[in-house]
Amino acid sequence: MPQKPPRCAFHTLGCKVNQYDTGSLMRLFRERGYDIVDFDSPADVYCINTCTVTSMSEKKSRQAIRRAKRRCPSAVVAVVGCYAQVAPEEVAAIPGVDVVAGIGERGMVVDLVERARRGEGPIVEVSVRRPGGRFEELPCARPETRTRGFVKVQEGCDEFCSYCRVPYARGASRSRDPKDVLAEVRRFVEVGHREIVLTGIHLGAYGRDLPGAAGGVRPDLAWLVERVHETRGLGRVRLSSVEPLDVNERLIRVVSDLPKVAKHFHIPLQSGDDETLEMMNRKYRTSDYERLIHRIREQIRPCGITTDIMVGFPGETEERFMRSCEFARRVGFSRMHVFAYSPRPGTRAARMQGQVDATTRRVRSEAMISLGRELAFEFHRSLVGTREEVLVEEEDPGDGFLHGFGSTYVRVRFPGGPGAGGELVPVSVVAAEPDGVLAARVSRLEAREEGSEGSREK
Ligand code: SF4
Repeated sequence: MPQKPPRCAFHTLGCKVNQYDTGSLMRLFRERGYDIVDFDSPADVYCINTCTVTSMSEKKSRQAIRRAKRRCPSAVVAVVGCYAQVAPEEVAAIPGVDVVAGIGERGMVVDLVERARRGEGPIVEVSVRRPGGRFEELPCARPETRTRGFVKVQEGCDEFCSYCRVPYARGASRSRDPKDVLAEVRRFVEVGHREIVLTGIHLGAYGRDLPGAAGGVRPDLAWLVERVHETRGLGRVRLSSVEPLDVNERLIRVVSDLPKVAKHFHIPLQSGDDETLEMMNRKYRTSDYERLIHRIREQIRPCGITTDIMVGFPGETEERFMRSCEFARRVGFSRMHVFAYSPRPGTRAARMQGQVDATTRRVRSEAMISLGRELAFEFHRSLVGTREEVLVEEEDPGDGFLHGFGSTYVRVRFPGGPGAGGELVPVSVVAAEPDGVLAARVSRLEAREEGSEGSREK
């Protein structure tokens, strides 16, 4: 009887970059004969791709390890990702962990797991030096026929915001070769992804470490978006998070002028108070941020502006918190991801005076989340009467409505129709809802006519 292939299950915490990395790891395991199974199924290997951004993400990483061990006590448990990189001994000491692999060791995870399956272990392979050098080209995630494909174009960060452990975990900023980026975009588009999301840890640093191309032009993010936009069959390209100081005039123009670029910027604010920004080692001030948003809105309307915002940073008094709220209100974000600060070992902020107690952090977090909902609803109202193009992701079996995201990254639902799954459908927004907008289909002809009128106006 032929032997059954070994089964490997994955669990991913944290950001889109981690999700992308898990896709690459899956591919490595598949190539070595493993079947990929669901994390809640019995498996021979459990691979947990961890995150270190908050103490909560580390807690969830530990819970996932315990869950895997409970499900299959004899399975090999491999822990990779940022938490494994910054605290290998702590991770190795968690009962049931067989393999700990660092960021630079992702490519050898299958070998380490095989060794552990032969009885070696626990194995800890984590380089102590900060990862850096060239972008590590792993086999790309095998594209599945999903609507949106994430393409990682950059790794690492050199910013060292005082609260953040990521530069220690992910190492120096390094950009992926544009040839490899474009080849992966083509592969994703060929198997049916309509939207490509360019992602990285410090996406706006793309190109800084790359040599100038022929003719002396150094690739940067705007340049890359233009190249990706030329991909035949591409429906839409979206940028993930871009730091405020990296959104330059060229990038705004590219987003404004190229029709297939999503009219959306995710620009982390972190705080709307200048003293807090200074202590966070963020290099811009609220006036810079406000000017930037003004420049974007002068050129792109409507444009979704989403952000990350942190509450309870050391030294954040009630007054500073209120300033942060007022600033967020003034900007009018279309969506806010709110994080309560948690001290990360080894960071400067963890040693700062004026740590804010957990209850205050929770209360501020709830207040900021509630403000975020209010602002989102206002943005949804502002879209009524405008046109959107929705990437249809699913159909609600209850009412038959189709759901997806518009160009501005707003959730849209509209009465369904056959064959729209994974398609970009032009709609007209008819009503605002707390979670998104309600829309009606418009014909392609109407949408095209409107588009050409729009371009005549320019
Ligand atoms: S830009 Fe700041 S918050 Fe973002 S990964 Fe780098 S150090 Fe962390």
